[in-house]
Amino acid sequence: MKSVFIHSDEFAKFKVSKDWPWLTERSEVTYKRCKALELLDREWIKVVKPKSATTEDLYTYHTEEYIELLKQADQGIFEESMLRYGLGTLECPVAKGVFAYHRLAAGATLAGTDLLLQSEADIAFSPTGGFHHAGPDFASGFCYINDVNIGLKKMLSRGKRILYVDIDAHHGDLVQEAFYDDPNVLKISFHESGKTLFPWKTGFETEIGKGKGKGYNINFPLPENTGDDEFLWAFERILPPVAEAFKPDIICAVIGVDIIFSDPMTHLQLTNNAFTKAVKMINHAAPKLLALGSGGYVLDNIERSWTLAWAAMNDLEPKEEDAVTFGGMFWGDGLSSLVDRPYFLPDDIRKKTTKEVKRIYRYIKKTIFPILGIRV
Ligand SMILES: [Zn+2]
Repeated sequence: MKSVFIHSDEFAKFKVSKDWPWLTERSEVTYKRCKALELLDREWIKVVKPKSATTEDLYTYHTEEYIELLKQADQGIFEESMLRYGLGTLECPVAKGVFAYHRLAAGATLAGTDLLLQSEADIAFSPTGGFHHAGPDFASGFCYINDVNIGLKKMLSRGKRILYVDIDAHHGDLVQEAFYDDPNVLKISFHESGKTLFPWKTGFETEIGKGKGKGYNINFPLPENTGDDEFLWAFERILPPVAEAFKPDIICAVIGVDIIFSDPMTHLQLTNNAFTKAVKMINHAAPKLLALGSGGYVLDNIERSWTLAWAAMNDLEPKEEDAVTFGGMFWGDGLSSLVDRPYFLPDDIRKKTTKEVKRIYRYIKKTIFPILGIRV
């Protein structure tokens, strides 16, 4: 096994303002915690410094006109006409260095993609990646350049079959759109329902793909307050059989940590125990794995959960000195412990979410499983 952790010090240098919720330190804190816990110090692991994506790379998904606008935005020059392209909003501000930051993020995703395609790596993780809301000519939801689509297009151009698994709290709307009729990219997105969360209009279970891609798009809109048990109940009934039936060459996973209960932007109630179990399942199903960070609006959640994810991808058990063992799990006191304490939800809430999760599973089992040849 060969794995690469993709990291650059440059990411954390990009700052818009103190109030902008997108935390550019995401790679930095994950890298440092992994390093401190000796999770990078193995003979099969390499740390790779990415280069910026070339404009040619960007043009495989984005329009030239939009990239020109991003170059202007990079100077911090705002013009009202940019608003039509989603630039200059609260979530996607125009700021000095904004294009450089996202271009490097796309370069990081492509570095992982290339290493997987050249068989130089079996696992690649870039914490600053997974910008699944960016469109061909617009920015949306903190996403300016869709590194995911650029990476997937490159994999497709080499004849690969890709399973895209997105567990970020927000629906991977623009990845779905880009490959909606493509049976060579099977898309699974688990996310908080659009009834209560951005991007509102997409991500419902009824969106199952079209044309040749019909049956190759699985949305699992989780009701608000979904907890660990309900999420895992559904995830383990969907991912393993779908992966087994589809037989991907590569899994591209978008592993946002805004699904965690303490995230201020979302209304799911998961802990990073369920998150880590999901990452383990993804890793287990993946002949090759490209993992991208995506969302998460609490730096401490990012650091702890992506460290656990990296350990899981590499079959390593992170050991913490201050950890105590309890019921087969370990956790320390306060925020420094990697593992969240169990989070208990009232019975009436669990009853409600369980009912909805089971309903959606039955729908997917009925509409999609037969197309994929999965018998349950
Ligand atoms: Zn998100």
